[in-house]
Amino acid sequence: MKEDGIVVMSLFDGIGTGLLALKNAGIKVKKYYASEIEEKSMVVARNNHPEIVEIGDVKKICVDEFEKIDLLIGGSPCQGFSRNGKHGNFEDKRSGLFFEWLRIWHEIYEKNPDAKFMLENVRMKNEWMDVISNETGVEPIIIDSRVHTQQARERTYWTNIVGVSQPHEIKTDIRDLAEKRDTTGWVEIDGIKIDPLITHDERLLISRVGDEIRIKQATKTGYIIAREGDGINLCFPKSKTRRGRVIKGKMPTLDCQCNVCFLLDGAIRKATVTECERFQGLSDGYTKGFSDSDRKRMIGNGWSEMTVRHILSALKERGGES
Ligand code: SAH
Repeated sequence: MKEDGIVVMSLFDGIGTGLLALKNAGIKVKKYYASEIEEKSMVVARNNHPEIVEIGDVKKICVDEFEKIDLLIGGSPCQGFSRNGKHGNFEDKRSGLFFEWLRIWHEIYEKNPDAKFMLENVRMKNEWMDVISNETGVEPIIIDSRVHTQQARERTYWTNIVGVSQPHEIKTDIRDLAEKRDTTGWVEIDGIKIDPLITHDERLLISRVGDEIRIKQATKTGYIIAREGDGINLCFPKSKTRRGRVIKGKMPTLDCQCNVCFLLDGAIRKATVTECERFQGLSDGYTKGFSDSDRKRMIGNGWSEMTVRHILSALKERGGES
């Protein structure tokens, strides 16, 4: 590790979770160049980390114009790859941004063969993963953040930082982060209290038979049982093939709507903005100043801070030698 800190370039920086993770890992950062084009995300990043040097659109980056880079991080927008998305491919303009990442990495590597990188993306088809592995020269490590956080979030990470392993399991669940909420006055369905934030369509997926709280889903039995402390995904309530899903003790993956729920003290609640921040490892109010839907979009698009911190922490050990 360099005495005066490392020089970092972060592409598709979003709300600056990369810098937060570096700080939390205790890695000294001398300069943090952030490439981002979405104004609201840039404001959130700036509010939390005024020292960020904004460098705009990745397509316009010319590495020669910056200080020698020690670490390149980023995850190109995932829509084209995502299993939830329209199954686009590299032809998708946004995923094509991966090749901008690659171009920039090559420029960095040419000037500094000791530079490190970490590239993140969603789970994708093997053939696409192979393209990225071939281009970067490393095999990906797939980490599901549920191992050490309160949220199920499976993501793929490519890095040349040496010594990155799976995180150690940490016993933690939704209850550890849930806000205190006053449920008096909430409407009940079959004796289950329902958060007023849950929509009419979403409610139709919830029922109770005896002691069982059932969430409708497109399986043989037609439902899945939710128990105290479980995370519940009520997304796509109108779809015939994808209905509610339940995860034991963990939040379903936050997406750009963060429309995820959980069962606590006999009430089905939608995650609040603050809870979403907590599930991603952000401090309360990290995204403040914007509407709830904007905040949830930025949070859901972002990284799980704990997982990225886990990976980058390896810089402090062998991987950081240069
Ligand atoms: N990892 C980030 C979020 C990544 S989401 C975090 O933790 O917050 C992908 C981001 O890429 C979005 O914020 C989007 O605005 C940004 N983006 C899309 N096209 C871009 C471009 N041409 N240059 C820079 N950023 C871009």
